[in-house]
Amino acid sequence: MSGGAATTIGIGHRTIENPVRSMRALTLIGDRKIELLDIAAPAAPGTGEVQIAIKAIGLNHLDVWGWRGMAFAKRKLPLVVGVEAAGEIHAVGPGVTVFAVGDRVVAYGGLTCGACKACREGRDNLCENVAGIMGFHGDGFARDFLNMPARLVIPMPAGVSFRDAACAPVAFATVQHMLFDNARLEPGETILVQAGGSGIGTVAIKMAKAIGCTVITTVGDDEKAAKAKAIGADHVINYRTERFEGVVRKLTGKKGVDVAFEHVGPDTFNGSLLCLKRGGRLVTCGSTSGQSTTINLFQLYLQQYRIFGSFGASIRNVRDSLAKMASGLLPVIDTEVALADFERGLARLESRQVFGKIVVTF
Ligand SMILES: [Zn+2]
Repeated sequence: MSGGAATTIGIGHRTIENPVRSMRALTLIGDRKIELLDIAAPAAPGTGEVQIAIKAIGLNHLDVWGWRGMAFAKRKLPLVVGVEAAGEIHAVGPGVTVFAVGDRVVAYGGLTCGACKACREGRDNLCENVAGIMGFHGDGFARDFLNMPARLVIPMPAGVSFRDAACAPVAFATVQHMLFDNARLEPGETILVQAGGSGIGTVAIKMAKAIGCTVITTVGDDEKAAKAKAIGADHVINYRTERFEGVVRKLTGKKGVDVAFEHVGPDTFNGSLLCLKRGGRLVTCGSTSGQSTTINLFQLYLQQYRIFGSFGASIRNVRDSLAKMASGLLPVIDTEVALADFERGLARLESRQVFGKIVVTF
């Protein structure tokens, strides 16, 4: 750790200037080129802001896309990576009363306006004036310190670790939003979770089981199948050796599932639709196997499918995710890597060898 940020602290009528002005930051400088750089530490937080000392970041496919240079959005390099994080309040700006130095927090990485209709109604991820996603469009969380508007900072409940909380803003909250705001998953329903060994797949299995659903999931090898069973999946299908559509029909007595949880894309999307019962819901938040597919429109309306596109989450979803962690629904951690090994973590994520989340600790 190269020290604290350039914070000005007033003690009585004396002012002490913290002399350390640089900090570590994992910085994307070109395609597949991330370096640990020393950059300027932030100034003291401004009005309405807090300064967070980052303790852990969760890796996501969003990081892999950015790293590969497959960005679907405009951005400028160099860019500090990291889309979700947990840390500790290091300094508090003028006007901030809800946080104190030492509070443990997570940050919401969508730079929303806080004022539009969507923001006012708590649908933060539909903000009409969003300035981008931290770590993707602009600088992210993989640095020792950063200043954030206090309204985008969420307190961590007691008993939750930084490592686990770092998975709340994206992995947990995305799934919370998909399952409960979009697909409106109900207790007792049957759900198909595609790629159950992925970061969000493992969260979906655990959240669905927690409310008493029957969970069918797909994985790519037998080792992952055993792990998916161990975290609660009722039925696990190895999609490399079995046709999952056929197995799901059989498992559900030809009825199909109520909800399909998608994020794989063209490789599985049509199969997931075929697995739905009439009036079933498909919710998707990603497309790791490609961008486009064709769907059968006759099937769509005759079977009365409902398809939800889902991206990100609201601040409420992050709070709900942290509350679930506090009550014992914890993320499945594949690997914890040190800051300097960030790229090894990304390569592991891209190789799809993971089971659960990869977390980088500071
Ligand atoms: Zn807004």
